[in-house]
Amino acid sequence: MQIDVFTLLPHAFSWLTEQRPLAAVLGSELELRFLTYRDYTPLSGGQVDDEPYGGGAGMVLRVDVVCAALEAVYGDAEGRRVIAFSPQGRQLDQGLVDELAEEDALTLLSARFEGFDERIIEHVATDAVSIGPYVLSGGELPAMVLLDAIARRLPGAIREESGAVESFSEALEGGFEFPHYTRPAEFRGWRVPDVLLSGNHALIEGWRLERSRERSLS
Ligand code: SAH
Repeated sequence: MQIDVFTLLPHAFSWLTEQRPLAAVLGSELELRFLTYRDYTPLSGGQVDDEPYGGGAGMVLRVDVVCAALEAVYGDAEGRRVIAFSPQGRQLDQGLVDELAEEDALTLLSARFEGFDERIIEHVATDAVSIGPYVLSGGELPAMVLLDAIARRLPGAIREESGAVESFSEALEGGFEFPHYTRPAEFRGWRVPDVLLSGNHALIEGWRLERSRERSLS
């Protein structure tokens, strides 16, 4: 899979690429580039945004700048899935993550300040995606959220011993995973469920399935 992230803050992503799951799939399953609009702007002085028509505070990312950047990188971006992050977009859930992880290539557009000129959302992006019903100061955190969630879906991202069954996986029919415990077996009187210490794998499996069902229903 190939993902390009357009941002004003490419350096903000470095920690993410150094950690699993991203680090495990970079250069193999995932080819990732961070690109900055400033490198492609046709305007002088690295200008990428402008004051809003009609007045008001904040700067708006320009449509001509975003198009110049996409054209410089792709020539014609026709057929490519281009996602603009917006608090007003389709809300990200595991279904959308799985759908996007199936793509061969994705472009993620992030903005800061007052956001995108609306024409970017309407005509340039194929999708507008929100990571939740709240307003952040930029699209970098949403881009990191999506990158992390997609990377987990790629082969080799998660350690084998962690097991393949996760919350929302098909094996759980879209439900939640069972609770996890580790040592110590008792701490301040809080005991780990006895069944997990029993060594009886069939019993443990049954218990975990029950807990998953309970959590998914409530
Ligand atoms: N004035 C805009 C918000 C701008 S926030 C409005 O009300 O819609 C600046 C940028 O941060 C946005 O353009 C978007 O890229 C990003 N952003 C903020 N909150 C977000 C969210 N919940 N999900 C995805 N992106 C978000």
